[in-house]
Amino acid sequence: MKVAIVGAGLAGLSCATALSRAGADVVLFDKGRGPGGRMSSRRMATPAGEAVFDHGAQYFTARDPDFAAQVAAWATAGVCAPWPAAGADAWVGTPAMNAPIRALAGEAAVTWNCQVEALVAASDGWRLQTAQGERDPFDRVVLATPAEQVSPLAAQHAPEMAACAGDTRSAPCWTLMLAFAERLPVEADVLRDRGPIGWAARNSAKPGRAELETWVIQASPEWSAAYLERDADDVAGRLAEAFAQATGVILPPALARTAHRWRYARAGAAGLGALWRPDLGLGCCGDWLIGPRVECAWLSGRDLARRMIA
Ligand SMILES: Cc1cc2nc3c(=O)[nH]c(=O)nc-3n(C[C@H](O)[C@H](O)[C@H](O)COP(=O)(O)OP(=O)(O)OC[C@H]3O[C@@H](n4cnc5c(N)ncnc54)[C@H](O)[C@@H]3O)c2cc1C
Repeated sequence: MKVAIVGAGLAGLSCATALSRAGADVVLFDKGRGPGGRMSSRRMATPAGEAVFDHGAQYFTARDPDFAAQVAAWATAGVCAPWPAAGADAWVGTPAMNAPIRALAGEAAVTWNCQVEALVAASDGWRLQTAQGERDPFDRVVLATPAEQVSPLAAQHAPEMAACAGDTRSAPCWTLMLAFAERLPVEADVLRDRGPIGWAARNSAKPGRAELETWVIQASPEWSAAYLERDADDVAGRLAEAFAQATGVILPPALARTAHRWRYARAGAAGLGALWRPDLGLGCCGDWLIGPRVECAWLSGRDLARRMIA
């Protein structure tokens, strides 16, 4: 069975891993420059050296026994570690949040920088249209993207799949990244729910990080929606001010300061596990099919693989 997976985030890679173990020939395509998806890490050059920020998912928990076993395997491999500052059961990728994704992608055939623009149902299988041209026919196709990015690919072939994705809305998240030459006089490594700020964390306090003082500040979903179309510099200024107010600290000049707009950050929760149309050989997985968490993405990918194998 030759399978193409669109999206090499955790859901796509979890699906790919399970399918490959069952003997399928799996290829993944991702429009991103490298491993991460919404578990990405951003690198920035500063006068004091490179700053690295986890600007998507901040930490993850493992409540399902199978996902807990996967996390334990990652911990043994040194690509994740507990981070008690976020909670007794909180884990983070090490040395950066994208490390587990990098590890899974290292064992898979992923083409990065490759946006899939359309699916074509041909007599010899599924053909994928990408900016770089058409890809070989595949027996099966998996869409492992955020819900909003499923509809344009699925609508023509499986309208009910596209409708289900269209009914599942994600909330946006403006994220500010700051690096400083010295440690800020803020005792806590994590702040939650302070006015416009939903979450702020001293990124450099996570295990395995470099010493350079770095902070990741995420606006609340409501604030992010209200300021969604604003310029990134304007948002960076407003969030930095809100952070200064929340901590009572006069911020020194930042070595690096940038804001990232996640249009589809916090997924909805369709409660379906995965979607699979055996008659078409077309399926969907992603956090949005279960809930807005890292663990849900992994479970959804594995769920779809099981349905496909069955
Ligand atoms: C700001 C933020 C904070 C978060 N905080 C937490 C947290 O603290 N704890 C937690 O558990 N979860 C958190 N999450 C959610 C968590 O990151 C996600 O649930 C999880 O990473 C989703 O994985 P996924 O594989 O379903 O989707 P993604 O990681 O989004 O992967 C989808 C992939 O599809 C690719 N793609 C999309 N369209 C195409 C196309 N047409 N062609 C090719 N490739 C395509 C994208 O490039 C992407 O790599 C957060 C997310 C964000 C953004």
